[in-house]
Amino acid sequence: MSKDERSPETFVAHALHSVDEATGSIVPPLHTATTFARDEDYQLRHKHLYSRYGNPTIDQAEEIIARLELGHDAMLFASGLAGIAALFETLGPGAHVVAPEVMYWGTRDLMTHMLKKQRITATYVDPTDLDALKAAIVPGKTELVWMETPVNPVWDVVDIQAVADIAHAAGAVLAVDSTAASPVVTRPFEHGADIVFHSITKYLNGHSDVLGGVLVTREDNARWAEARTVRNVTGAVLAPFESWLLIRGMRTLFVRVNKAAETALAIARHLEHHPRVEKVLYPGLQSHPGHEIARRQMDGFGGMMSICVKGGMAETGRVIRALKVFLPATSLGGVESLAEHRKVIEGDDSPIPDNLIRISVGIESRDDLIADLEQALANA
Ligand SMILES: *Cc1c(COP(=O)(O)O)cnc(C)c1O
Repeated sequence: MSKDERSPETFVAHALHSVDEATGSIVPPLHTATTFARDEDYQLRHKHLYSRYGNPTIDQAEEIIARLELGHDAMLFASGLAGIAALFETLGPGAHVVAPEVMYWGTRDLMTHMLKKQRITATYVDPTDLDALKAAIVPGKTELVWMETPVNPVWDVVDIQAVADIAHAAGAVLAVDSTAASPVVTRPFEHGADIVFHSITKYLNGHSDVLGGVLVTREDNARWAEARTVRNVTGAVLAPFESWLLIRGMRTLFVRVNKAAETALAIARHLEHHPRVEKVLYPGLQSHPGHEIARRQMDGFGGMMSICVKGGMAETGRVIRALKVFLPATSLGGVESLAEHRKVIEGDDSPIPDNLIRISVGIESRDDLIADLEQALANA
């Protein structure tokens, strides 16, 4: 990738594009064509053939993300899980995967499915316990270490460099699901990761109106070529209009994420000693077990946090229902703040505490958000 002298805030705000040569437009055009004509010698005019393999709008979104992550190349998928599935599909038959015990439930479901089909084998570990991680990796057999940081919904921070060193010593590849951090907060390639994944449904698009995923690679290699083959043969590419919306959403990435992180820290500090709150889980608090690693690895601490209210299912449910500004919905990383009673979503056999409320902080007024939490806690 050619070097861009501009800082990420600048090239993202400009969507890597300044002025369209053909029209003078300062907004990138949306290319909807599914097919591309050949020239008089029957050669392709540019590299595009058919849009299942990519098109100029999809390419532009991918290039922005690759640069944001300081990676070599990026590939967009029709959902986050389609991207994760493509990466897993690059693994050899029966390959061993090490993954976190607590992880995004959809990825866990995908692995459960692949385990049932004997497509892979897997060991689940606590990724903050590096000795356990070392013990879980089988040199020569473990192909992939899959990590998420910060870890949803307790927001433990995984030391990416330490995990990368352990994975690489055993010949395994490290892939990091960096969805909850966003490239504004963490760039896993700076800490030794080989593959970065985002659900672009979350912070990258940021407006809760596009479903998609992206894989980014640090270097061009056989696994990356294989991942591209999987996307091509399964047709899992993101559509052009969604790619265009993503480009538009990313133009405000830095202001959205930095504002959410600032407000999240203010909320966390405000609620930390609240009489109705048992604890606040946010990596920006000194009391958080991941705080020291977070200070080294994160720029700001992101917009995701959880609070455990005093009481059980009933009290927690009342707090959620009393909120007026926070919307009672799942997902994260949008401009609107969301609050979710995780135990209700994950069910009885989940290890999530009954009294945990997961909060995705949006870009609304900080005072409105704090006042909303105050009234909900007081009335519940
Ligand atoms: C949402 C999410 C995914 C899955 O992405 P989809 O776009 O919903 O398919 C994966 N990992 C994390 C951390 C997520 O939050």
